[in-house]
Amino acid sequence: MTRAISIVRETEYGPEKLCTVCREWWPADTGFFGVRHDRGCRLTGRCRACDSQRKRRQHRAKKDRDLPAKAAQLAQLGIAETARRLRRSPHTLYRVARAHGIEFARQHKQRQEASIVPHIRRHAGRMRQIDLAAQLGISRTTLRRLAKQHSININSRAH
Ligand SMILES: [Zn+2]
Repeated sequence: MTRAISIVRETEYGPEKLCTVCREWWPADTGFFGVRHDRGCRLTGRCRACDSQRKRRQHRAKKDRDLPAKAAQLAQLGIAETARRLRRSPHTLYRVARAHGIEFARQHKQRQEASIVPHIRRHAGRMRQIDLAAQLGISRTTLRRLAKQHSININSRAH
């Protein structure tokens, strides 16, 4: 069994205690150290700064444990919106998604595609598929898929 050894030194500022985590000397009082009530009200081994850092890490670890499940629940909203709601960066969510096989809805791509549908409709039948696809900066496969999704006949009348 290891026992926390309290290292205290006397200085001209008063007694200082060595933090077991950051290895720095701090005033040996309750402003800098917590109090352990289980052992006759002694000061804790780690200083308050190290203690709060540890609590933040534990809190973060708990949040990270829940993250895959929460991300999966919101995945249909897209990665940007999910990140905003969970208050995490898109990068973190992307990493979590990759690790846990979560697929975010591609809202950005959908919006982009939706914006070119009117152009397809306008030029459908008047331009060759290859020219229309080139003009819109999409592949012919994408052009055909979008046309089918929106019931647009893109077969050129003039071959
Ligand atoms: Zn410390």
